[in-house]
Amino acid sequence: MKIARRVRGLGTEQAFAFAARAREMEAAGREVIHLEFGEPDAPSPPHVVEAGIAALRAGHTRYEMPAGWPPLREAIAEEFSRTRGVRVPADRVLVVPGAKPVMFFAALSLLEEGEEGIYPDPGFPIYPSVIALAGAKPVPWPVREENAFLPDLGELRSLLTPRTRLLFLNSPHNPTGSVAPRAWVEELCRLVRECPGLALVTDEIYSRLLFDGAEHVSPLAFEGMAERTVVIDGFSKTHAMTGWRLGYAVVPPPLAPIFERLVVNAVSCTPPFTQRAGLEAIRGPREPFEKMREEFRRRRDALVEGLNAIPGVRCSKPRGGFCVFPSVRESGVPSEKLAWDLLEEEGIASVPGTAFGPMGEGYLRFACTTPLPRIAEALRRIERFLQRRRTAAKAR
Ligand code: PLP
Repeated sequence: MKIARRVRGLGTEQAFAFAARAREMEAAGREVIHLEFGEPDAPSPPHVVEAGIAALRAGHTRYEMPAGWPPLREAIAEEFSRTRGVRVPADRVLVVPGAKPVMFFAALSLLEEGEEGIYPDPGFPIYPSVIALAGAKPVPWPVREENAFLPDLGELRSLLTPRTRLLFLNSPHNPTGSVAPRAWVEELCRLVRECPGLALVTDEIYSRLLFDGAEHVSPLAFEGMAERTVVIDGFSKTHAMTGWRLGYAVVPPPLAPIFERLVVNAVSCTPPFTQRAGLEAIRGPREPFEKMREEFRRRRDALVEGLNAIPGVRCSKPRGGFCVFPSVRESGVPSEKLAWDLLEEEGIASVPGTAFGPMGEGYLRFACTTPLPRIAEALRRIERFLQRRRTAAKAR
């Protein structure tokens, strides 16, 4: 058997590797604090779970329409139009199993061999992976702490070539938690409009997880962007539904039948009981979400304050998402080694900044996905661990 070249370079998410080792350690009796996965530790809200169970009992266990269950598409279109300030009809909404397939479908639909796709570095590792899978060249767009973790628009201009066809944007940004302000998004849209044949793929999966008065600004709302923008969003983070696999795309009209066909080819449909639970997530009470968001804010504050109190660590306060991204460069140890050692020596599961691209060197990502007392314990262990590293460095 010969494996095709196109899949040999597929990227991955290193969080899974750290989680696997953490589980092995736990099976051997070690105790681990889990800060590796970007997924809420809260259970899915009870009304969502009940809706899923009721749908199963009612027999919604067969194929659904490939583009999605019409009432859910309508509800998403209505919610989307209200929250983004731009009217989107339901026929431009496609329901898919999670947000990730949208990345896949966008790259397959928009990129030809030899073309280029730009993505943020550090950034979600699946973006360069799907660009390369489509046969195109992934072009990193640096995200730097000195620019408040906002990628530079002047630099973007220098990366654009006549072959650039796709640009990934992610705000709030994983892993840094930065949130793109309105003026920045406006300027980005101007740049995109200047480039014929360039599509913007905006990943807005964290758009409701905002803090400190931050505002989510979708590029889709700006003039001339509806025909060149694909929006990625879903239920995983907002409604603590990562395992249900429920996401959606908002696409320009010509892409809707293509995405629908990709669904038919790849998975036929998104499970119907999952979609009914999703409708309940949109229509039901918001309290579980608000409670979760407030808890994430408290944990973020505790982590940021605690990390900044550790000598050699610097951590800015993210305004979106639920991860923190401290600089640990002063330890002098590469991020990946540091993350593995931190897991082995102290039982703290994190993800190295380099899992999000080479520009993530010198950083670790901690997800605020464990209760406050465990965060306090994690901070004690991280401090002890880095203290040992400093003592060892001094002795050399
Ligand atoms: N987009 C970003 C930026 C993410 O961080 C994640 C999950 O970590 C996803 C998309 C994936 O979402 P889903 O689980 O709905 O596929």
